[in-house]
Amino acid sequence: MISFYPGPSRLYPQVKAYLKDAYDEGVMSINHRSEEFMAISRKTVALLKEKLNIPEDYSVCFVSSATECWEIIAQSLVREKSMHVYNGAFGKKWFDYSSRIKPGAAPYPYEAQEKLVHDYRVWDSADVICLTQNETSNGTEISNRLMHAIRRRYSGLIAVDATSSMGGVYLDFHTADVWFASVQKCFGLPAGLALMIYSPAALEQAREINDRSRYNSLLFLDEMMQRWQTPCTPNVLNIYLLMRVMEQRKSIIKVDAATRNRYRKWDAFFESGEQLKHFIKNPSVRSKTVLTIEGSTDHIRSVKQQAREAGFLLGEGYGELNESTLRIANFPALRQNEIARLMDFLSRHR
Ligand SMILES: *Cc1c(COP(=O)(O)O)cnc(C)c1O
Repeated sequence: MISFYPGPSRLYPQVKAYLKDAYDEGVMSINHRSEEFMAISRKTVALLKEKLNIPEDYSVCFVSSATECWEIIAQSLVREKSMHVYNGAFGKKWFDYSSRIKPGAAPYPYEAQEKLVHDYRVWDSADVICLTQNETSNGTEISNRLMHAIRRRYSGLIAVDATSSMGGVYLDFHTADVWFASVQKCFGLPAGLALMIYSPAALEQAREINDRSRYNSLLFLDEMMQRWQTPCTPNVLNIYLLMRVMEQRKSIIKVDAATRNRYRKWDAFFESGEQLKHFIKNPSVRSKTVLTIEGSTDHIRSVKQQAREAGFLLGEGYGELNESTLRIANFPALRQNEIARLMDFLSRHR
């Protein structure tokens, strides 16, 4: 079965050999305070910075999920009010999680079919503006260009959920203070590890707020990372796998070009579809890594079923879009011939 699910998703095929290496090298039993672990952690961060173009003065730390990052931001970076700008289920969930920790969290929903228009009068009142760069539930994105425009307008911190795009497309990290992603999407790895990337300004705000009430307070994470360590025992195996995957991966500029190239083919494929069409009608807001395709409920159900029988796992529609849409991951770990085979299959149903 080839998984086109937008997370957990297809692993890089090399992961099988890396797992064996990890076993043989004893990686799964090393102590997380040992020199061996610190070397893996240091090298992984260096590779991430190099391959993803993360600015030199930004920091990287390891946590367990994107959901954990939502909570860390609310605990450690929000004084009173976070502004949650969203057009879909993940951004909405982030708002829900934050508001339980900091009740001053404010929702700013917008239409998935329309380009986001930022609103100075409303947003400027927040300590942290929270954006979902790639909304996995409906297949929309906020472009680097729009991120730039938002960055220029606001002096407060900007935090970005890039869970289903980081590692697959180029992100200009300078346009926000906090970025996070878990590895079961574009990094082609098993679930259970996430990265949080933060700017000197984010760290400064964390120091002013000085939240030290949780094991995963950002200040603890940051202090431990000075020694390439984590407050609790981390997912050492997955950090090792991430290091190995990043070693073999090309620079994000090249990966981005390949992702966009594949995306253009999918885009055109469904532009000319009759029974299967883009759910997002406005091409300028479509995600490059997650396609959401709509059709009649009967047709969608039948395509998902037949795809399964043909050896393809398609993504279910998310939440309320469950029955009317299906989703297709355009993640780097998918191989060209797998995409060609899925297109061939879908061309009989589109
Ligand atoms: C998958 C996903 C999450 C949740 O990731 P976890 O690792 O399960 O916490 C959050 N946000 C977005 C945009 C996602 O795609």
